[in-house]
Parts: sequence; structure tokens; C-alpha cells
Amino acid sequence: MSLPKKVKIGWKEYKILEQPPDEALIDGGTICYGQVFYDRQEIYINKNYRKKHKKATLLHEVIHAIDEQYSIDLKEEQVVSLTHGLMSVLKDNPALLRKERE
Ligand SMILES: [Zn+2]
Repeated sequence: MSLPKKVKIGWKEYKILEQPPDEALIDGGTICYGQVFYDRQEIYINKNYRKKHKKATLLHEVIHAIDEQYSIDLKEEQVVSLTHGLMSVLKDNPALLRKERE
């Protein structure tokens, strides 16, 4: 199973692109796990990592996009902590996201 191709955040739809670490993933000389581009609505994920790591990276970039969309103004450390917190809550409580059948 690979990552989804897109993610809807509010009224915006971001394309998810698993890429080799090219210029889109290099920020100030550092190779990033992922990168979000708000204007072109694209999330780049460095494909050279394991699935679990890519999922965490995607969630991290989604939190950045939510932050931008709703003008929350989170700091990077807060995005990192929210990513860890949400990853473990979602993993430990799969029923949270399960759709209800009526
Ligand atoms: Zn970040």
C-alpha cells in the first residue's frame, strides 16, 4: 500500500508526490523528509524512506498545511509534537477514524 495521491484540507486539495530528494526537497542545503508548497498545493515526500516514516512525514506536512489554512501560526516544534501525538493516538485507536455503518 502506498501513500494516497492527494489530500483534501478544508477547501484545498493537495497533490502528494513521492519524489527522490531533488531541489524541491532541499532546504538551505539540508535534505528534508518532506516539504509543503501552499501556493501550488503540493506535498513532496522524500521516497527514500520507509513507509512508516513517509506516513509520519505526510502527517507532519498536513499539519503544516492545516496551520497555514486556518492561520494557527504553529512553531516547528509544535508541529513535530502534534505529529508524534496524532500518530500514536491514530495508531492506538483505529476506531477513531472508522466510518460508522448505520
Ligand atoms: Zn516541519
